Amino acid sequence: MKVIQVKCPQCNSPIQMKQKDRVFFCTQCSTMHVRDGGIEKLDYEIAEFNPNTQGERTYMPFWRVYATFIVRSKNVEGGTFFKLASMLKSGSDSGNVFIYVPAADLDTANFKRIAVQFTSNPPRYPTRLNFGNASRLPAVISKQEAAEMADFVVVTMEAEQPGVLQNLDYTLTVNDTKLVYLPFVRAAQGLMPAL
Ligand SMILES: [Zn+2]
Repeated sequence: MKVIQVKCPQCNSPIQMKQKDRVFFCTQCSTMHVRDGGIEKLDYEIAEFNPNTQGERTYMPFWRVYATFIVRSKNVEGGTFFKLASMLKSGSDSGNVFIYVPAADLDTANFKRIAVQFTSNPPRYPTRLNFGNASRLPAVISKQEAAEMADFVVVTMEAEQPGVLQNLDYTLTVNDTKLVYLPFVRAAQGLMPAL
């Protein structure tokens, strides 16, 4: 396996990686950075595991896209339920939402399951400063790609109910994107959240 070695842009410590990861984490000074053309230091967050977690722990990277969602028109006859619109303050046609775009290498079914789960119910958690003994999955999706995929997550959420998308016209503007690591355990049925 190819080993990549770079230097931390903050403290100059060498960072070695054996896996394909788009982000580099310095264990000396906890700086996270990407190299996409230039070097960019990243704002990130690491969530704490639920203390009762059992099994093999791993962190999954997400790009948490903070976006403004504006409903331009909707047809709610028949009690059609718009998931994202329902997250806005009642009576309001616009608001800010967090869209969780998994950055790990997931198949489509797991990508959709996990993205919809966290976007529908934004997780609350205490944070920590490092990964402890837990492994972490490589981030294979870039920040820019995540911003483009945020719309796909919204479409996926709303498409769970037939006919909804035809009745909803909206715009989504990305304000900010933050790298967030959420705790998971490896279970028989796949990776399960451990918040
Ligand atoms: Zn460093």
